[in-house]
Amino acid sequence: MSSQRNIFGEKFVLRLLKKNADVQELFELGFPNDEKLVTDSFDKRNSVTIIAAPTGEGKTTTLYSVIQKLNDPGINITTIEEPVEIRIPGLNQIEIDAKTDFIDSLRTVLRQDPDIILVGEIRDKETAEIAMQAGQTGHYVLSTIHTIDAIEVITRLRKMGVSNYDMSSTIATTVSQRLVRRLCKNCARERDFTEKEKNFINSIGEKYNVKFDLAGKKTFDNVGCDKCNGVGYYGRIGIFEILILDEKIRELISQGESTLKIKEQAMQGNYKPLIVDGINKVLDGITNLDELNRKLRIY
Ligand SMILES: [Zn+2]
Repeated sequence: MSSQRNIFGEKFVLRLLKKNADVQELFELGFPNDEKLVTDSFDKRNSVTIIAAPTGEGKTTTLYSVIQKLNDPGINITTIEEPVEIRIPGLNQIEIDAKTDFIDSLRTVLRQDPDIILVGEIRDKETAEIAMQAGQTGHYVLSTIHTIDAIEVITRLRKMGVSNYDMSSTIATTVSQRLVRRLCKNCARERDFTEKEKNFINSIGEKYNVKFDLAGKKTFDNVGCDKCNGVGYYGRIGIFEILILDEKIRELISQGESTLKIKEQAMQGNYKPLIVDGINKVLDGITNLDELNRKLRIY
């Protein structure tokens, strides 16, 4: 534990390199290009933001991009990870390899009073409760959890044994994401949407109260060329959903209401499920419905 003593011995001020090769800008990752949404989603104090997705969907990368976005000289950011997935110069990153160390590290970090704490993953009741506690005592906590979407975070935390009170009073935002393949720009073949595809997109729009503008929009088939190894896709981009916990949603959580009810309420507000951002990216020609279907099983 000597390395931990060294780490905790000083007060750390984070200065992330503006252009770190491993940390992409949030918008480049596919986060909806809306500064206000970013501010509403992440610029909080006294709260917890959780990024939720299955393994391998880019949660950690998003987490670091958010940190980069929030970074400011004088802001003190500490991360506790298991293991450290991306090394960033200037960041106080603590790597732990056993559960007890994780809890101890988190408690020690809290005494150091950083502004922002990045907790690699909430995986059990104990880490969840300490993260909540940190969020209630002046810190901004960013973490990830393994669930299918932003709403299911509530179910998962309930199952871990986190109280409705702690959740409703502490969680500010939950974000979920998936990585979809980008069309290869070198070989994508442009065509009109079929009537069936248009009807499908409009039906999603109606279901989630979104107006998709199909006028003059084309789509692309993945073809395949040398550049993309014959698959027609090259690189990946995130599709996102964001649940900002407003008063009404907090009330439902604190009353122990079902996630179905919470989802209904969320739909009345700004919450739009993953498929909505996915379709926006299809309409922007970044990916296509086939890829969205492969990822989300939309049909
Ligand atoms: Zn290609």
